[in-house]
Formats: sequence, C-alpha cells, structure tokens
Amino acid sequence: MARVSSDEQALGYSLRVQEDNISDYCQRNDILVVHVFREDHSAKNFNRPEFQEFLKFAKKSKGNIDLLLFTTWDRFSRNIQDAYFMISKLEKLGIVPMAIQQPIDLSIPENKMMLAVYLVIPEIDNDRRSIKIREGIRKALESGRWCHAAPRGYSYNQDHHSRSIIVPNDDAKHIRFAFEKLDQGLQQADIIRELKKRKFTVLRSRLSEILRNPVYTGMIMVPAYEDKPAQLVDGLHEGIVDQTLFYRVQRILHNNIKKMNRPKGYRKREELPYRGMLLCSKCHMPLTGSASRSRSGQKYYYYHCNHCHKERFRAEKVEEIIGKVMESFKFRKQVSELYKEMVRLILKGGVTERDAKRRNILDQTKKLEGRLEKLQDMLADGELDPKDYQPMRAKYEFQKQSKLTEFDDLLGMDDQYDEIVKTGTSTIYNLGQAWISETIEGKINLLGSIFPEKLEILEENCRTTKVNDFLRFIVQVDKELKENEKGQLSPYLKLSRQVETTGVEPVTS
Ligand SMILES: [Zn+2]
Repeated sequence: MARVSSDEQALGYSLRVQEDNISDYCQRNDILVVHVFREDHSAKNFNRPEFQEFLKFAKKSKGNIDLLLFTTWDRFSRNIQDAYFMISKLEKLGIVPMAIQQPIDLSIPENKMMLAVYLVIPEIDNDRRSIKIREGIRKALESGRWCHAAPRGYSYNQDHHSRSIIVPNDDAKHIRFAFEKLDQGLQQADIIRELKKRKFTVLRSRLSEILRNPVYTGMIMVPAYEDKPAQLVDGLHEGIVDQTLFYRVQRILHNNIKKMNRPKGYRKREELPYRGMLLCSKCHMPLTGSASRSRSGQKYYYYHCNHCHKERFRAEKVEEIIGKVMESFKFRKQVSELYKEMVRLILKGGVTERDAKRRNILDQTKKLEGRLEKLQDMLADGELDPKDYQPMRAKYEFQKQSKLTEFDDLLGMDDQYDEIVKTGTSTIYNLGQAWISETIEGKINLLGSIFPEKLEILEENCRTTKVNDFLRFIVQVDKELKENEKGQLSPYLKLSRQVETTGVEPVTS
C-alpha cells in the first residue's frame, strides 16, 4: 500500500517512489504481490476510502493475504490507539502490517514501544543521531559484538565482563530446523507450516531474512561506511548453524531468486520439460509443446514445430532419445581425475571473477554511502529542503541494502567448490546413471549445461552445434585413451559440421 496526501505530494513522498520501494522489497524477499492500493488521504484515521477498500478486499480474500506492506509507519497511521486497534483487527484476518523501512517484529511485545515511536514521531530521523553514536555502533559490530535488537533465536545476556551479548535461546532449535529443512529441499511455505505446528510463528519475509542473516552462523555483517568497505567479521556470539549449512542455504536462496526472475514461459510443465531447449531439425525454429487427446480420451504430449509444421515428436520419444545420448557418454576412471583438475582450474577462475564482482559491489555501495553523506551535509548546510531529503535518503538507503544482499549472495558461492567436485565427479563418471535418477528440474539443468546450444531431435539421435567444452574435452581424452575414432562424441549425437571440424580437435599431450 502506498499513501500520499495532497500536501505531501508536493513534498516528494511520491506514490511512485513508495511503490517502487515496496515492489523491490517484495522481489528481494520472494513476496507475491496480490494487490496494490494507492491513497491520497492523510493517515489521520482509518476511515479513508482506499483503506476501507483494502479492508473489504482483505475480508474477501481471508486466508490468502498475510502481509500489508507500506514504506514507513506514518503511511499506516498517525494515531497510536487507532494503529494498535487496526493491527489486532488485521491479525484476526491473518494479516500482518509491516513498514519495509522501519521493520518491527510485532510478535515480540517489547517492540510495540518502537512502533509508538515511529507512529508518534514519524519524522524521527536516524540521521540526526550523532556521528559518534554511529561510529560506536560500527566499532561494536567490527569487534564482533551484535548491537541491534536481538535476532529471533537469541536473547541478550551478559558476558563475564558484564557486557551485553546475544546468546541462543529456546527458539534456536526452530531456527536450526528452518535452515536444515530448506537445505533438505523443503519450500519456505512448508517450513513455516512445520514451524507453526511447533508453536513458532514466523512471517514469510521474516523467514527469508533469517535464512540470509550471517548472524546465525556466528558472523556479523558490518556495512560499508565512509572509506571502509562492508565486511563480514567473526562474532563474539555463538552461531546456531554451522557455516557449511549456512552457505548451502545461501546457494539455494540465490537460485530461487534466479528462478523467480525467469520469464513466465520458462516454467515447464512436467510432461514437456524440454520445451524451449529443442529446435526443429527442418527449419531450425524452436519447437513448442502441447497435449492432444486420443479418441479413447487419453492425453498425449508432443513437441512440434509451429513454424513449418513438418516436425512432431511424442514426448516419450524425445525422453528416450535424450536418455540414450546421456547413456552413451561413458568415461574411464582416470577421466574423473582430469575432471576434478579442470573443475579446480575453472572454479579458481570463478573465484577471481567473484572477487572482481564483489569489489565492484563494494565500490557501488561506497558511492551510495557517499551520496547519503552528501545528502546529510546538504541538509545540515541548508542547501537541501528537509522535505526533499527524506525520499532521496530512502531511495539510496534501499539501493544500498540491495547491494549488501547481493554481496552476501556472492559470499556463499566460494564454499560450493568441494560440493561441486564431489557430486560433479560421480555425475560425469556415469551420466547415463545420473540421468535416470535426476528429477525433472535436474534433467533440465544437466541438459542445459551439457548442450549450451539448442538440441535438434532426429529420428534416432540428436544434433546440436555445440557441446559443453568441458565434456567435449573429456570425451576426447577418453577416446584417445581408447584409441577410438576421433571427433565423434556419441553414436547418438551429431555435431553440425562447422563445429565438428573446428571445435573437436584431437588432443595432443
Ligand atoms: Zn519447423
């Protein structure tokens, strides 16, 4: 929900900025937007027409909505009594109101105090806190001491120097449970349901935040500040999950976001998983897929060409041919050693690339920090109208947070190496076997990585212009070992001529 009153409109709290911020937030946190409400009334009370519309909508869709998002709490209400009343009213509808720029976990009673602060003094401005305090917080974080509100699963306690430190509490087991279940392939919605059964309630977006927070692995993310880049430091507190598990989970979350951002057509039906990966062998346009019903009423699935209409394959047939191609890639044991070595070399390259990316992200973060500082200076020097300041600050702050998330995602990737070598080696050693036991999603990924170009199905085999260089190299080496014929990867796979001559070359030691 975005709200602006006519007098605020002029002040730059534009609806579009609010809407952009909210939709960015939803995308980052895997939140599905059901409806957007835009208001141009003041938040004096809840009798404003658009809010009433929202309530009607909420009652109608009871059980299907769990979040009401706005940018800051003063968008929701300016009156504390009203706000509490409305919050409990929404609670009964299963909806939690949330300000994305002033997150408060309302399931913790103490936090209601914070809400009062946000509501009553909406103009409260964190930036007026003296630099000293900010530096103090930063120093504490750098030294590994958590100094924000205790994250779920932790409570504040005193260490032996009687300084505050977070320690795992009774909820820690639920946090661990969430990490483990995600790692085992459970969806976040299912995890939330399981947790609820265990009397631990958590919101979808909160769970997402929890699973990304390095605090749970005993680390602390110190945001970039002035000339100092963002950094991850060892915390003084005890972790709840080990680092390997944490990074595996980061990988999964990262892939989920990638999947969400795929164009719609990319989502494949189980019956026609290779749609979008196949080309017509007659006219070289992509094959599409559809179902048709036989007279007996049974459904059959086909891949067919919608361009020249000359090609049509039963889905089972395609599955069979691709399976044969996969099975035909067989290697000797020595080859898996070579593969390991290659993975090592390639991933090492990846590390450098990620380093560069990380440096780039840090540079951008620093730039944003600089802009924020500059805004503050301009505000302090009276060069910037306070009304213009707020939305600009919100925008940069938001961009900065996005960059930090991106940074976190990259961190998770370095630890994947061992895993790749381990699973990859057995996969490549016997692709045929691996293929049979793969899930549909796994098959799509495997096929996509082996054949970077699209595949054409011929009567009994496949044709493509390009095979994964890696695999081609390995097959080649293996063939050399067997003193086999050169240039042919598999009796079931044809490389189109142009590549066959230039790409597949005999390997000399
Ligand atoms: Zn065609």
